[in-house]
Amino acid sequence: MREPFFSDKKILVIDQSEKKQNDRTWCFWEKQTGLFEPVVHHRWERIHFFSDEFSSALHLAPYQYKMIRGIDFYSYVKTESAKHPNIEWRTEKIKAITNNHNKAIVETETAIFTSEYVFNSILFKEISGAKKAKYLLLQHFKGFSIQTKEPCFDDSIATFMDFRISQQYGTAFMYVLPTSSTTALIEYTLFTEKLLQKEAYETVLREYISSGLSVPDYEIVHEEFGVIPMTNKRFPLQDGRIVYMGVAGGQVKASSGYAFQFIQKRTEQIIQSMLTKGNPFTRRSFADRKCQLYDSVLLNVLSKNKMKGDKIFTRIFQHNPPERILQFLDNESSLYNDMQIMRSVPSNIFLPAAFYELIRSI
Ligand SMILES: Cc1cc2nc3c(=O)[nH]c(=O)nc-3n(C[C@H](O)[C@H](O)[C@H](O)COP(=O)(O)OP(=O)(O)OC[C@H]3O[C@@H](n4cnc5c(N)ncnc54)[C@H](O)[C@@H]3O)c2cc1C
Repeated sequence: MREPFFSDKKILVIDQSEKKQNDRTWCFWEKQTGLFEPVVHHRWERIHFFSDEFSSALHLAPYQYKMIRGIDFYSYVKTESAKHPNIEWRTEKIKAITNNHNKAIVETETAIFTSEYVFNSILFKEISGAKKAKYLLLQHFKGFSIQTKEPCFDDSIATFMDFRISQQYGTAFMYVLPTSSTTALIEYTLFTEKLLQKEAYETVLREYISSGLSVPDYEIVHEEFGVIPMTNKRFPLQDGRIVYMGVAGGQVKASSGYAFQFIQKRTEQIIQSMLTKGNPFTRRSFADRKCQLYDSVLLNVLSKNKMKGDKIFTRIFQHNPPERILQFLDNESSLYNDMQIMRSVPSNIFLPAAFYELIRSI
C-alpha cells in the first residue's frame, strides 16, 4: 500500500556522516516483532532490578527487551533503501534549513536544495530550556563492551537498573547487558545537571566490573559515550514545511531518556498522515500531553531534589508488575494504570509537584 504512494517521490537523505561507525547501542522493549527485527543483536525476556532496599528478577512477558547495535541498524537501513531507486544518499554537512513560501530549503556546504518537505533530525541549537522553571537534566552514560576469558554472565537476563552504586553525583545506576557468557555491555548512567570528568566514568565502571560483578579479567572491546537531554521543554513538531524528528522533535521521553521507540512511533504517525491526509503534519494527542505532564512532575521532583531517583524507581519496581511499568514508560498506559504507578510514590512529594506542573501547563 505504501509503495505506490512514496515511490513516485524523490527522497534525498543528507547526513554529514557515512554512518559507518558503531557509535551507539539501542535498547528498547516491544511486544511484537518489530520493523528492525532482522538486526536485533540480542533479546532478554527477564531483567534484574537492584537497589539497596529492593531487588528482583522480573519476567517481562509480553515484552522483550531488545538490543540493536548502531552499525547493524545503519547498514540495514542503507541496504533496504538501496532497493528503492527514488532514494538517494549524500554525505554533506547541512548549514541551514529554512522555509521559503511553500517550500523547504536545505543549504549544505556545496549546494542548495528545494523540497516539498524536509524531515529534520538536526538539533542546530543547544537545548537551553532550563530557564523559566523548565527543567533540563542530562542523561549521560559511558559504556564498556567487555570480553571475559571465563564464562561470567547469564545472557538470558539483563540488568535494567542497578542502583547499588554511589549516588553522590545524583541519580546513578548501571545497566548490564550480557550478549553471551563471555560478553556484555556495561553502562554507567547518570541523571544530573552536569557531566562528570572523563576519568570519573571509567573509575566507577572498572570498580563495578571488578567488585560489583566479580569479573577480574576482561578486555574492553568497545566503548561508547552519550548524552541525552531530559527536559520538559516543548519542541515544535513542525514549522512550515520543516517536520522535526528524533531528539530535535522532542522524541526523548523526558523522564527516562529512552527515545528509540518514540522515534519509530512518530515516524509511523508521519507516514500515516501522508497516506491519509497527503501531508506529514501531526498534532500532539491528549495522551501525549498527559504523559508530558507526568514527565514534568518527575523532572520537578528530581531537579529540586525532593526525592532521590533511586528511591523513586525502587518504589515503582517494588509495587508494580513490569508490564505496567513498561506500558507507563511507553506513554501507553491507561489512566487506571497511571494511578497504580502514582500510588507507589509518596503523595506528599508528588501531589504538590503534580499540582504545580498542571497549573503551569495550562
Ligand atoms: C550513545 C547513545 C546511546 C543511546 N542509547 C539509547 C537506547 O539504548 N535506547 C533509546 O531509546 N535511546 C537511546 N539513545 C537516544 C536516541 O535513541 C538516540 O540519540 C537516537 O540516535 C536519536 O536519533 P536522532 O535521529 O534524533 O539523532 P541521531 O541518531 O544523532 O541522528 C542525527 C543525524 O544528523 C546528522 N547530522 C547532525 N548534524 C548535521 C549537519 N549539520 N549536517 C548533516 N548531518 C548532520 C548526524 O550525523 C546524525 O546521523 C542513545 C543515544 C546515544 C547518543
